[in-house]
Amino acid sequence: MSLVHRARSKSPWVMHFDTAGCNGCSIEVFACFTPLYDLERFGIVNVGNPKHADVLLVTGTVNHKAKRVLKTVYDQMNHPKVIVAVGICATSGNVFHQSYNCLGGVDKVVPVDVYVPGCAARPEVIIDGIFLALKKLEEKRRDKDANHREVEPTGTSGQGEAAVR
Ligand code: SF4
Repeated sequence: MSLVHRARSKSPWVMHFDTAGCNGCSIEVFACFTPLYDLERFGIVNVGNPKHADVLLVTGTVNHKAKRVLKTVYDQMNHPKVIVAVGICATSGNVFHQSYNCLGGVDKVVPVDVYVPGCAARPEVIIDGIFLALKKLEEKRRDKDANHREVEPTGTSGQGEAAVR
């Protein structure tokens, strides 16, 4: 593991995004960063810019209006990234899943790595979900490192023999 990856694994940056929830789960996400639960003691930092985030916590059911914004936030995150659906709204659409403007859970729009149950999801469960997400992030980083060591061309012409970096 490179020094940069080692440092980043000890200080993952997390962003919260609410689609169309009642804010119950959002309040529980905020509670995770209060002194009571103090997620920062693990080096986990809450950020507001998707370009800086490793982990995206999504709360609320996804409606047509939020779909485009969620996709944009997801696309702005750098690889590797991990998405956590927090609460029943985000995991399945909850009781709203058949309403006219509702698409359902977050995985209808972007790939989800970890599902956190609850209505509202309790901070303890959200923290558990974030740690599962960090394991997933580590796996993705390892895969990315392995892919970088793939066969690539060498030589001045750019069409030489293959080599492993
Ligand atoms: S899962 Fe429950 S608490 Fe969370 S956003 Fe949906 S309705 Fe609100």
